[in-house]
Order: sequence, then structure tokens, then C-alpha cells
Amino acid sequence: MLQRLRTALVLAIVTGLVVVLVNMHSSAVFAAFPNILTKTTEYSIDLATLPPCPPASPTPKPHPLPPTLNQWQDSENSGDYFSQVTPTKAGYLVWSKFPVHVYIEPPESMSGKQSEAWVNAILPAVQEWNTYLPMDVVEKPEVADITIVRKAPPLQTSHNKILRARSAQTSYEFYTSQNNLLSHRFTILLSPSQIGNYLTASARHELGHALGIWGHSPLQSDALYFSQVRNPQPISSRDVNTLKRVYEQPTSLGWSVASLQFKSQKSKVKIEDGLGINS
Ligand SMILES: [Zn+2]
Repeated sequence: MLQRLRTALVLAIVTGLVVVLVNMHSSAVFAAFPNILTKTTEYSIDLATLPPCPPASPTPKPHPLPPTLNQWQDSENSGDYFSQVTPTKAGYLVWSKFPVHVYIEPPESMSGKQSEAWVNAILPAVQEWNTYLPMDVVEKPEVADITIVRKAPPLQTSHNKILRARSAQTSYEFYTSQNNLLSHRFTILLSPSQIGNYLTASARHELGHALGIWGHSPLQSDALYFSQVRNPQPISSRDVNTLKRVYEQPTSLGWSVASLQFKSQKSKVKIEDGLGINS
């Protein structure tokens, strides 16, 4: 009986371990009316509501830099915004197995041609980041590390209780891979309101989050600026400097999980913009 209670307790702890952090973008108003430059704030994570670190979580250690990032030198010393990047309970969201597999889900609600055009608007963003971190586009969703879906993020209540539409949402979860490594995977939702240039820019920005820049830049000239801008910018030196610093940090991700207990988790905890919401 005591043994059973103990097992139940361990399971209960372990089920709280898959975390989905959601990074919401409240610039849909601007996306719908690209001529109006609206400044909207977004992005806050309530760290206090995060579940505890997995008991079997590997000791955080840095991984070797991938050669593309290792070779990166910013001759202009343009700085970074690493101080804005939030580590998670598993450490920094660093990939250590390359290439990172991206699956772009062809939208079923669109005609074949439109669906193809949508996918084609995302591809340049993957290509741009691939210069700094090896990425590839996969055809099978089950092998994806990052899945990109054309779907409106759920409406979000802001602090003044107004429901706001979001242009994009990026979330992650932890799992244990077959070879027993603590792993993560991302889902990016891009709102159907995003079209053309803005769609590519939105994909570029969200991919930046999914590659480990879990925070925003205060400068408009960076791809990870906190709001959409009239003239979307390509990846800046500051974006890459920040990415490089993230990849120099210790993480529990990509290291071996000692205990088998961690494998039994199933549920997800979802955190949106500082409001703890269970899903
Ligand atoms: Zn963002």
C-alpha cells in the first residue's frame, strides 16, 4: 500500500514536467492594417508558476557550438540582447543535434496553389537561420523538432481584460527521446492574418524563439524586436550575437536522463503571457 502511494506520488510529480511556454504576439491589429504602425507590448512569462525542474533532470552543461555559429564573428561589435533571454527550468533552449528538423504543415483549408505559396513564404526564413544553425525541412511531421502551422493563436485576455488577437504563438514541451536524452520540441502557430512579407517576417521571428532566443530585442532593427514593424528586418548581427551567447550557456537539454521515471509523463502545462492556464 505504502509502495503504491509512493509510486502514485512520483507519477504525480513527474506528470507536471512537460512545460509548454507560450510566447504570444499581440500585433495582429497591425498585421490586418499594415499601414498603421501600432506599438503593442507582448511577452511576459510568469516564472513563479513554472513546475519544478524534473527530479531526473541532467546537470546543466554547455554543448560544443555548431561550426556555423563557432565561425561567426561580428566585426562591427554591434552587441546583443542576451540579458533579455529567459532560461527555462531545464536551462537554455539549446539544440544539440543538427540539422534541426522543421516541418511546415501545408494548410488544408487552402487550394493547392495557395497552400504551396504559404509554405513558400516560410521557407526563406528557414534558409536565413540555416546560415547560422543547420536546419532542414522535413516531409514527415513525426520527425519534426519544430512544427509550423497556419492557425490563429487562441484569443488572449490582456491585463485590462480586453480579448486580443495574436499574430503568432510559439510554445515548447520537454520529452525524453528514445536514447534517453532530455529533449524539447516546438510548435509555432502563424495566424492566417499574416500574409506576404509579414508572414515571412513572422516566421523568421518565431524561428528565432524556437532556436533558443526566448526573449525580445528592444531595437526595431532586430528580427526579434518585440513588435511587428512596417519594414520587417532580416536577421541582424545582434540577433546572431545573441544566438551565439545562448549556445554558449549550460543546459539540461540534450543530456542523458538518469531515471526512467521521467518517461512516464504525459500531461502538459501551458503558460500564456504570465497567466497560468492549464490545458
Ligand atoms: Zn516574439
